[in-house]
Amino acid sequence: MNIIIIGPQGSGKGTQARMIAERFGISHVSTGDMLREIARQNTDTGAHIDLLIRKGSLIPDDIVTDLLSRRLSEDDCKKGFVLDGYPRNANQAKLLEVIAKIEAVIYLKLSDEEAVKRLATRFVCNKCGEIYGIVKQPAEEGKCDACGGDLYQRNDESEFAVRRRLEIFHKDTKPLIDHYRYKRLLHEINANQSIEQVFSDISLIVENL
Ligand SMILES: [Zn+2]
Repeated sequence: MNIIIIGPQGSGKGTQARMIAERFGISHVSTGDMLREIARQNTDTGAHIDLLIRKGSLIPDDIVTDLLSRRLSEDDCKKGFVLDGYPRNANQAKLLEVIAKIEAVIYLKLSDEEAVKRLATRFVCNKCGEIYGIVKQPAEEGKCDACGGDLYQRNDESEFAVRRRLEIFHKDTKPLIDHYRYKRLLHEINANQSIEQVFSDISLIVENL
């Protein structure tokens, strides 16, 4: 069972991907995590990826695809995987088709207003990294429940920055969504709902694959 999950920041994509992997006994493959892990390795590829990440550069499509191809051929992916963070554009989607057969694409559709509301009200603990927001609020304002650390708002989560990133997301993702709709693999989920409801909608689709 090979699934792709797509959604803007604030859609709960990572959380849903983890829940799907757990429920259906498949692997959660996050290309962001994969690249960060490779960057920590003491190899030529690791050093190269590390440099690109530090410079804030995009990792070229052929490199990501090559690394992903190796990752997807590992044993734990034999039963299936839920791919998170890839493909990001139509070119990557075509490269992916060469290395894996995709059975469903879950698109978490979130209104821009809701994304802004969720992200621009998000606070992170400066000690343990715990995230607080509308759904999960700290018992004491500005303090982390888990460790007592101070909560702060990330610079890239100001309303302006969030709107700018959403614009880029929509521009890059539109051709990707169209591609998968044309291939009849696309399943749109209303991500403005609660985490539980979104997961229930996704589960219905995955159970029927
Ligand atoms: Zn904390």
